[in-house]
Amino acid sequence: MDNEKKRSAIFSKGLLQSGELYQYLLETNVYPREPELLKELRDMTATHPRAIMATAPDAGQLIAMLLKLINVKRTIEVGVFTGYSLLRTALTIPEDGKIVAIDMNREAYEIGLPVIRKAGVENKIEFIESEALPVLDQLLEDPGNENGFDFAFIDADKIYYWKYHERLMKLVKVGGIVVYDNTLWAGSVAMPEECTPEILREGRQRTLEFNKLLAADPRVEISLAPLGDGITICRRMH
Ligand code: SAH
Ligand code: CA
Repeated sequence: MDNEKKRSAIFSKGLLQSGELYQYLLETNVYPREPELLKELRDMTATHPRAIMATAPDAGQLIAMLLKLINVKRTIEVGVFTGYSLLRTALTIPEDGKIVAIDMNREAYEIGLPVIRKAGVENKIEFIESEALPVLDQLLEDPGNENGFDFAFIDADKIYYWKYHERLMKLVKVGGIVVYDNTLWAGSVAMPEECTPEILREGRQRTLEFNKLLAADPRVEISLAPLGDGITICRRMH
């Protein structure tokens, strides 16, 4: 093989070739800079039977970067769980910032709440225990909320992602950002269906559908970053 072909064979595989590479990224760039209380919340979550649901720390770090880059003050979070991404957001936005945080289950949020209180950022959070879709519709009933948010992070049931997106294209201002989590669904989006483990199949199908719709949506610019379980960054253009 000539050098050009060798290079092409290596680079065309994409970046994250191994678990070791992911560990390297976390240990050199993410963990050393993770705020102390966020680490505490992550450690507390680790023993939860559904700990795997928490936002990946590397994805959280990118979210914090985006929040800073566009000076986010008002944001929506759909899917709180124990609050890893919520605390990351609350620690990043300014003192007068506000997060509307929605989860249909308050129980897991209660686990992280003492850490959120310790961090002194509970005042920035309005937690709403509910299915997310009716809350987004309710927000839209107030014309003041139209284009009223700078940012949204969506990390709940994938079946509703497109419905959330339709609402968010009204709630988040032009130039604002919406981030969707789990858009690579453990890599299953690139597996043939018959090779996909049964437990991933439904989510895989939903993710494929959502990614396709998003890729064709002229309202947004997109970038699917292969961090965590894949996060798609959408910037509303018009
Ligand atoms: N972002 C969180 C992880 C969220 S896990 C973190 O960083 O830890 C997904 C969460 O979505 C769960 O807590 C679940 O209760 C919630 N959820 C699932 N379907 C929902 C729905 N239809 N409406 C609101 N919340 C939902
Ligand atoms: Ca997630």
